[in-house]
Amino acid sequence: LKSPYHGGHLEVIVGPMFSGKSEELIRRVTRAVIARQRVSVFKPALDDRYHDTAVASHAGRTVNAVAVRGAADIRAHLSGEGTLLHAQGDTLPDVVGIDEVQFLDPAIIPLALELADAGVRVILAGLDQDFRAEPFGFMPELLARAESVEKLTAICTVCGAPATRSQRLIGGQPARFDDPVVLVGAEESYEARCRVHHELRG
Ligand code: ADP
Repeated sequence: LKSPYHGGHLEVIVGPMFSGKSEELIRRVTRAVIARQRVSVFKPALDDRYHDTAVASHAGRTVNAVAVRGAADIRAHLSGEGTLLHAQGDTLPDVVGIDEVQFLDPAIIPLALELADAGVRVILAGLDQDFRAEPFGFMPELLARAESVEKLTAICTVCGAPATRSQRLIGGQPARFDDPVVLVGAEESYEARCRVHHELRG
């Protein structure tokens, strides 16, 4: 379990939907708990509240987490308002995990770096590409700044090959490139697809 890094560092887990990012985050966090390390796990809140919840994988494993609206909530949770993280010393957890990090705000980048500089092992899991297969928001910068990047694949629902992309379907049809990311009232779903079978409606 001993980390190959001395002190704090940043680990990023990416891949399409269903690639096992949450499973891998849960696996790493569970091992840290077994090693009696102090662990804090966060994930984006679906509503306006900051509350206790869990990270769950599609296969059903869970770990306790705090639902947050953004980087500021994580900072407040770890340090109390107005306190510098690096001045926290022993009160910071050994490990901070965040799932679905692509849905938080770009202030997560300086926060992750500050935590790593303060000696924390930071494990971030999220989508590297959106449904168009474009780089997802600020994720490229996290990948560039991480000590370790694990890129996972799912299984293509069409051919069974390793899938690197998330297929968005609206009413059973491939989404268009310019379909809004949030569609109110539409029947939408996602599937893991390989490069060959990932489609955008023209
Ligand atoms: P992610 O966090 O990347 O969305 P999860 O860790 O939540 O992934 O779920 C991964 C699990 O999803 C797999 O272990 C498997 O049980 C299940 N699964 C369902 N559909 C697929 C698929 N097309 N490819 C791979 N795994 C799938």
